[in-house]
Amino acid sequence: MLFVRRRWALRVTETMNLEATNPLTTELVSMIIQGSKQIEKMMKSSNVKIAKPQLILMSAASLRSNRSALQRLMEECRLTARDAGTIAQEALKAAGTLAREYKFDELLRSPSFQPSPPHLQPITMTCDVCNASITEQDAARVSAEQFRALLTKGFGIDETNIRMLVETGIPREQAIELLTRQYSTSQSDWLLCTDCAGKAKNLSSEWTR
Ligand SMILES: [Zn+2]
Repeated sequence: MLFVRRRWALRVTETMNLEATNPLTTELVSMIIQGSKQIEKMMKSSNVKIAKPQLILMSAASLRSNRSALQRLMEECRLTARDAGTIAQEALKAAGTLAREYKFDELLRSPSFQPSPPHLQPITMTCDVCNASITEQDAARVSAEQFRALLTKGFGIDETNIRMLVETGIPREQAIELLTRQYSTSQSDWLLCTDCAGKAKNLSSEWTR
């Protein structure tokens, strides 16, 4: 019985199509287990007892609203905030798939499986470079490949993000290096505000909106 949590956490990462040997899997499994223990404690204090498999699925489903977990994913696995968010969404999807498969109907009705409450939902999208609010119509999309090319031309590292790292005690040079490394490993498209898109356009002749 010792390994029920682990087995179920691995079921989640398998459903997400993550290899067992992927370092991300190790990190996710340990985060999901840890989260399940926190949820269990919370539940106990209100006299609710939930079986371990359900606790694990709840934990996986609530990664998306767990800021410290997302932060840890970014740090440990060198992911961008966006990629960490995507992984949390995938974890939610996987937990839902498993809950349906195992007929945990009550679980599927719990808040962790509902669409994000309004206060957690971003009102608008934000620019992936400068965090400015943008609307769907304004957003310019840049492929990961295009973005990497722009990075080499000095585009993409916003002063706000540098300052955030510097405030944690990282020297400026190192902060820039860290961000560049993080950004260059991103596999998904980037959404840019009009301002950033303009700057990018100036830098890149191959740029097409
Ligand atoms: Zn921007």
